[in-house]
Amino acid sequence: MAVRRPLVVGNWKMNGLLADGVARVRDLCTRVVAEPPPCDVLVCPPATLIAPVAEALRGSPVLWGGQDCHAEDKGAFTGDVAVAMLADLGCRAVIVGHSERRRDHGETDAIVCAKAAAAHRAGLIAIVCVGESLADRDAGCSEAVVGGQVSGSLPQGASGANTVIAYEPVWAIGTGRIASAEQIAAMHRHLRGLVRARIGCGAGDMRLLYGGSVSAANAAEILRIAEVDGALVGGASLKINDFLAICRSCVAA
Ligand code: PEP
Repeated sequence: MAVRRPLVVGNWKMNGLLADGVARVRDLCTRVVAEPPPCDVLVCPPATLIAPVAEALRGSPVLWGGQDCHAEDKGAFTGDVAVAMLADLGCRAVIVGHSERRRDHGETDAIVCAKAAAAHRAGLIAIVCVGESLADRDAGCSEAVVGGQVSGSLPQGASGANTVIAYEPVWAIGTGRIASAEQIAAMHRHLRGLVRARIGCGAGDMRLLYGGSVSAANAAEILRIAEVDGALVGGASLKINDFLAICRSCVAA
């Protein structure tokens, strides 16, 4: 049976200025070194803070990554960030297809797939986000929607070494409303089956994260669910006590 080391990712979204962002990762790093949690810890600050965060974290066990990237390697794409730029700053991963980008920037599965492929070309882990809307869930088609997103968003060559899937029901993101343990377990079982059908042997190596209002209070219950290999954390990742409590709630692989 595959042993997957849990992963907890902090998605700071569009929050943080230089002084507080650097202070936050310094604090996180000191406390992770003093008492290592049973998981990999990755922070994804806004693009403006990646360089100073990298400087503060270099050589530490805390990893850092981007929140998005462009599918092209370089060129006339004003305001966008290329995967090579992320890799150049020591990023280990990049989030692609977050529901806020699918919603606000019209990102389709094809775009997400191209971004994930770009991440792989640059040697980055693509954290591919999928998740159904409340209307999808109410209509009873959550598994079909998520299945379509997985098959459309994972590029050729996706493997447990270069890809993580984050299941984030859209209705649970930033709302304080979390999916029930049964809903999470069922979707993660479904996801494991989809990955197995897609990549065959090695499917057991791919980490499947849950995201959506994960907090210090509910993390232990979520992280003990079978096939949940960690969490993608938004709001709570801005509070180091809470973020560390989530990391410490992981069940060691
Ligand atoms: C997210 O940004 O991916 C997320 C899950 O946010 P929150 O934890 O705030 O719901």
